[in-house]
Amino acid sequence: MIQVNRVSKHYGSIKAVNRISFEAKLGSTTVLVGTSGSGKTTTLKTINRLIEPSEGQILIDGKDISLQKPQLLRRQIGYVSQNNGLFPHYTVRQNVAIVPSLIGWSAEKTLQRSEEILEQLLIPMAQFGHKFPKELSGGQYQRVALARALVTRPPVLLMDEPFGALDPVTRQQIRQELKSLPGHPERSIVLVTHDLAEAIELGDQIVVMDRGKCLQQGPASDLLFKPRDSFIKSFFDTQRFQLELSAVTLEQAIHYLHSNQHSTSTKIETRNLTLWETITLMEKENLTSLYYQSSSGQIFQLTIPILLSCISQIKAKYGIT
Ligand code: ADP
Ligand code: MG
Repeated sequence: MIQVNRVSKHYGSIKAVNRISFEAKLGSTTVLVGTSGSGKTTTLKTINRLIEPSEGQILIDGKDISLQKPQLLRRQIGYVSQNNGLFPHYTVRQNVAIVPSLIGWSAEKTLQRSEEILEQLLIPMAQFGHKFPKELSGGQYQRVALARALVTRPPVLLMDEPFGALDPVTRQQIRQELKSLPGHPERSIVLVTHDLAEAIELGDQIVVMDRGKCLQQGPASDLLFKPRDSFIKSFFDTQRFQLELSAVTLEQAIHYLHSNQHSTSTKIETRNLTLWETITLMEKENLTSLYYQSSSGQIFQLTIPILLSCISQIKAKYGIT
């Protein structure tokens, strides 16, 4: 677990980061969002001591990181930086092997684990191991950067706009793969992005930053349905329709639905999709309705108007329009 306690970073009179606090639990993803210059990168870099805070304290697994040697600290932290720099004159295989060799893994262990993580990220070693970064597509390049950060199974993963340069479809694919990677429950992830859909899809907890300060933090549904003020509300307004549907899962939505025991021959969905994923699925498969079986075994008939009405009811409950 990572605990960031009232961390600030001042450059002369500029308060790049101003008393930021959050906790990133094991198995969770914390997302820092905010406009350019709001202090996201600076905050992230204090966690691996690429930047030393002017004040405040950071603990990883209860230990104060300022008392640890930066080189040793960084060995337990996977890092994908904003301009993520794979070494251009190293092959894919060599890039992924950098940290394992630093910590003294045998060549055999390094190769075995590199093959495994590259395979999981759809970059088979046999096909890509000997390639140089400039021979990769944008998506492949980012996958290798991610493999390099994850190869030693670090308990902490820091990512700074890791999918920023990719097209939306590739972004979405890599996000899905990241979520389904084995080892997710043993890791705390802190991710920086300015893409709100990405924040809501990946973040168990979202920290909204502006001019160095945290304006509000919490799960996506809190930020959307219980915004602290008009700034937070307007922050999400541009994509509000999709974001709201992405922030609510079927299991949360059933509180607003009537159970329907008339099972039919139509397929019964048991995955706890978000409302947005459900609507996307219905459109793709041309379904006018879909049956969802909740974790308690009840069956609900869903149509797109019913799903949209859940959002209206949630908003009515919190008194927002
Ligand atoms: P973000 O990642 O949210 O875009 P940064 O953390 O990179 O923001 O920067 C936050 C603020 O701190 C910006 O106003 C930036 O200009 C300032 N800043 C960052 N690094 C330095 C530095 N080394 N010296 C002076 N100002 C800096
Ligand atoms: Mg940045």
